[in-house]
Amino acid sequence: MASLSLKHIFKVYDGGVKAVNDFCMDIEDKEFIVFVGPSGCGKSTTLRMIAGLEEITAGELRIDDEIVNDFEPKDRNIAMVFQNYALYPHMSVYENMAFSLRTMHMPNDQIHEKVLEAAEILGITEYLERKPKALSGGQRQRVALGRAIVRNPKVFLLDEPLSNLDAKLRAAMRAEISRLHEKLGTTFIYVTHDQVEAMTMGSRIVVMKDGFVQQIDTPTNLYKYPGNMFVAGFIGTPQMNFFDGTVRKTGENVRFSLDCGTNIDMKYMQADKIPVKYMDGQHKIVFGIRPDDVRVKNSTNYDDGSWAPAKAVVSVVEVLGGETLIYGNLNLETPDAQSGSIIIKTDPDTEVHRGDIIDIEISRRKFHVFDKETEQSIRKRIPDENVINVAISGGVLRFEGQKFLLPAAVHCADSGSVELSMPVSALTLGKGDGKATVQWVEAIGEKTLYFLKVGDITVFSLEAGAARFAIGDNVAFDIDFSQISIGALGVTPLCMVNTLDGIFTKEKDVSKKFYHFYMNIGDAKLVPTDLICEKVFACKGNKIFHTPLQYIVSVKDLSVISACGTQNALTGKVLKILDYGKEKYAVIDVYGQTLTALYDGKVGDTVDVIVPVEKVTIKDKSIDIIIV
Ligand code: ADP
Repeated sequence: MASLSLKHIFKVYDGGVKAVNDFCMDIEDKEFIVFVGPSGCGKSTTLRMIAGLEEITAGELRIDDEIVNDFEPKDRNIAMVFQNYALYPHMSVYENMAFSLRTMHMPNDQIHEKVLEAAEILGITEYLERKPKALSGGQRQRVALGRAIVRNPKVFLLDEPLSNLDAKLRAAMRAEISRLHEKLGTTFIYVTHDQVEAMTMGSRIVVMKDGFVQQIDTPTNLYKYPGNMFVAGFIGTPQMNFFDGTVRKTGENVRFSLDCGTNIDMKYMQADKIPVKYMDGQHKIVFGIRPDDVRVKNSTNYDDGSWAPAKAVVSVVEVLGGETLIYGNLNLETPDAQSGSIIIKTDPDTEVHRGDIIDIEISRRKFHVFDKETEQSIRKRIPDENVINVAISGGVLRFEGQKFLLPAAVHCADSGSVELSMPVSALTLGKGDGKATVQWVEAIGEKTLYFLKVGDITVFSLEAGAARFAIGDNVAFDIDFSQISIGALGVTPLCMVNTLDGIFTKEKDVSKKFYHFYMNIGDAKLVPTDLICEKVFACKGNKIFHTPLQYIVSVKDLSVISACGTQNALTGKVLKILDYGKEKYAVIDVYGQTLTALYDGKVGDTVDVIVPVEKVTIKDKSIDIIIV
């Protein structure tokens, strides 16, 4: 039984290939985690780093709270099962399974017991005396699993274990491995390039591409809420349909105009998670719809307004027995045009033929929208931001009948209608001068997303914890003005993270017997903990002394006192006080760089900014790698 924590794990191979970038994940005891992605995306490298077969370039790997970066593979209590089984051909199945226990000098009777127990679990008792060459692929894979089981490892790592098996056997072994996971109650990490394998086995899946984690989520969430086009296209068969186009909001109506000529109309309420800035008829977007979320129009279809009509011309009909796949095009004039091609999954009774022009219906609930340029989802489960048209006069902000006094930190001129944006967590409920009505409530994991009607518009509020308000409730709301931006007036949100340039140095002690190490920012010498030193040297060795670094620390982690020469502090002068009403921040000059921290004092104060070194992230500026 084991939990794992991977913090900012990087792998750079000799020659500079960055195989894994900033892999962060906490894995709980007994989880079945699958790493999935196309060949070369860094899955095996990550798994091999966990196993200890590959050195970790930077980052921290913990198993059960113990940092194991420098542990030998044999000391990690991990078992790895490989694609090619890696069985010893000259040994019997029994001896293959007993081998690792013999090298541990386990007494024979215990070895015998463990081998028999594992053979029983895997149903290979009758083959124990055979040599691997006398076994089928599936049986060999079971022996490979058996070799792992006998060691009673804390974590099972499986690297494409089924890829040498034929399709039918693979499906059977998938189920068997899932059962094995349940029976053993151990943490499993499984690597595959096959999304079906990932979806059917993983309790959580890590989707990777080009060395970067794209999304970590449950199979259902990956399918329903893909964060970008890559995940949307990779998960689900047949693949999601994508259509380039634009979207425009006119009053309460929204129209998606697809480049292939089709328009999809809906009410704004059905599309309200899309930031309004995209609904200008200009921004290039990609409309995504899964083959399961399109249906062929049928007089018996029930429709409560959730289906948008469209037409398609049929090019191929694939009858699969339990379902039928229709390959067609929304572009009726040029049915070969790539831009309108669509796949529709329908029930086997649907009568359609090549060349037919059919009426179809596209779900107004289960569609996806992506920014064409960034390929990121813009209809996220949790919207990134609220965008509201506001007007400002005499330090008062007004919108939709609401009135807020702007805090002193937000300096801006009077203006007509301008766009204000803020993260959804910056709109807080229960107190404040705003008045809203709860329109809809959605529980998302441990959080609650409220859809709020304010005058004529919908805004979102995201809170930690379970729902406190119900649909129809009238609630007061407030705005965290430190998080707002008004582009037209140059109002930017307060940066909550400080990034300071610096270096890492050593100095000989007066005794000349040992060195002191320092994290230098300007003239300040912060004293790193032993753990920081260990991590820095594990990653960079003595090269650290010639590396330009960035020290990154959250505004909330800093504390400010009157200057008195404190250790592990940056001394500086307050340039500006930002008064946000509830909280005041200071912009402080430290050795020619500026930082922000909570501080209720005045401009010109000389202060010590106390830096908790253990909370500082250290980044190698030249190669963009977090080393601590
Ligand atoms: P996956 O398991 O997803 O197919 P890998 O983790 O094997 O991907 O590889 C990730 C990247 O690292 C690839 O670009 C691959 O070519 C590169 N790579 C893997 N092993 C080495 C190595 N020993 N030396 C240099 N580059 C490597």
